[in-house]
Amino acid sequence: MRTSIATVSLSGSLTEKLTAAARAGFDGVEIFENDLLTAPLTPEEIRARCADLGLGIDLYQPLRDIEAVPAGLFARNLRRARHKFELMRRLGADTVLVCSSVDPSAVDDDALAARQLSDLADLADDFGIRVAYEALAWGRHVSTYDHAWRIVEAAGHPALGTCLDSFHILSRGSDPEGIEDIPGEKIFFLQLADAPLPAMDVLQWSRHHRCFPGQGGFDVAGLVRHVLRTGYAGPLSLEVFNDVVRQAEAGPTAVDARRSLLMLQEEVGAAELPAPVVPTGFAFAELVTPDADPLAGLLDALGFARTARHRSKPVDLWQQGEARILVNTGAAVRRDGTRLAAVGLESPDAAGAARRAEALLAPVLPRLRAPEDAPLDAVAAPDGTELFFCDTRPPSGGDWRSDFADVEHAPAATAVRHIDHLALTQPWHHFDEAALFHRSVLGLRADESVDLADPYGLQRSRAVGTADGGVRIALGVGAAPTDDTVHAQHIALATDDVVAAARRFRAAGGRLLPIPANYYDDLAARHEFADGELETYRDLGILYDADEHGTLRHCYTLTVGRVFFELLQRDGAHRGYGARNAPVRLAAQHAAQTRAGG
Ligand code: MG
Ligand code: MG
Repeated sequence: MRTSIATVSLSGSLTEKLTAAARAGFDGVEIFENDLLTAPLTPEEIRARCADLGLGIDLYQPLRDIEAVPAGLFARNLRRARHKFELMRRLGADTVLVCSSVDPSAVDDDALAARQLSDLADLADDFGIRVAYEALAWGRHVSTYDHAWRIVEAAGHPALGTCLDSFHILSRGSDPEGIEDIPGEKIFFLQLADAPLPAMDVLQWSRHHRCFPGQGGFDVAGLVRHVLRTGYAGPLSLEVFNDVVRQAEAGPTAVDARRSLLMLQEEVGAAELPAPVVPTGFAFAELVTPDADPLAGLLDALGFARTARHRSKPVDLWQQGEARILVNTGAAVRRDGTRLAAVGLESPDAAGAARRAEALLAPVLPRLRAPEDAPLDAVAAPDGTELFFCDTRPPSGGDWRSDFADVEHAPAATAVRHIDHLALTQPWHHFDEAALFHRSVLGLRADESVDLADPYGLQRSRAVGTADGGVRIALGVGAAPTDDTVHAQHIALATDDVVAAARRFRAAGGRLLPIPANYYDDLAARHEFADGELETYRDLGILYDADEHGTLRHCYTLTVGRVFFELLQRDGAHRGYGARNAPVRLAAQHAAQTRAGG
């Protein structure tokens, strides 16, 4: 199936957009008029550039405010259209998008609209051009796809068809099943976008929040299934507008766009990809640091033991229970300081996981490896974190642990059982994409996105994970691209007794994040606690949350570089991450940083 993307969906100059679309593997583009008007290239040069890049020009858009107007005005509209058709001939584009009129002088008269669109199609036909008529959700008299189709049908002109746009259809709450009543050959074009729910003013919603399929809340796949059942054979084209894609680099956006379309094609049975291999747990989390001492002190106080060292690299393995942390003092990009650079995911089929990742345009990273090192495949997540697929099936030959030689060590504590979750901060413009990436490439499930109040702005957070909670990743993003305070990442460690674990940590010289007394006064008002329980939490800085499934108790270490640790006890089947407590934690971290003079 042919894939296409509107130039408006990518940032930059027209040349940058075309290059990005071609590199990401799209077959064609919709040329958005503004991109042509602002380009220094002639239409012939744009045509040649597209040809060089292997891109077809599948659509030229938009032609606005044409139909259902008084005769004098319509004559002027035809004159305007003739200019566009001449331009399109130079471009080599053979389909034009006409959106339903928003002109105040347009009248509510379907017969007139049909007649004038037919006249327009006559003129277009002289140029070998087809007219695709689309109902804008905010069109003056025509705002639904079935209404637009009735007019096209009444016009009965072979060069006039309809353009379906998932945003305009689904934002109006129209039932897409009726699409199947339209003959496929009369659907001249299909534009796809998703959007988050719930709505706001539809024009604002459209201009600022249209996102790639799978990033929002619309059932775009359901709509596409209806369209395919009509026999539609044209391209699947992405037409997306939002404040992020307007600013983010075109190259990565185009790759994200293609990944979203691949997912959609898989969903509707139009593409076959290697099946997802869902990871079963965390094999390790890898921290890189220019100075191992602060992390070593922290891990030691948390009860970890340094159990092994990499045979060929300056990497230590720290372990407690099934929680494994690698501390790498070699690979550090020094200016980034201490950060979480890589995650090992236990996989029942590491090669299969890597194949799916590659099929979804997450290239397997070239590895710097000594000849004797285990072959490990890694892909880069949108935030740059390297994800390693660690085979759990023996004999794997890919056992990362065999790269490490045991060192003598005192026994680890038994407070921490395993890594409960990782919290990774996304670059602000990658937030929607990050969730889609983890869903599509790793087969994880995504929770709803939540907003967290930070003293200096709003953070968004969205958790992805496996059904059984074996892998949980909290994706977060700050409100502003310049917000340095939110680049923290954390490793949450599961314990059966957070009070004992916190006491142990403190007795070993560790410092927990202090939490303001007001928080505990509020907790006392909301929940009932046993005698002394709340005082214990207050003393240690333990936060508390409860839902219908169970309770969550958790506390935090201070931050080293970008990284801090969380000790966390889930009781019952509590599935949350303490979202209610996040504003308190964020404020406490700001305060701790200020006290440290940082
Ligand atoms: Mg459209
Ligand atoms: Mg957490």
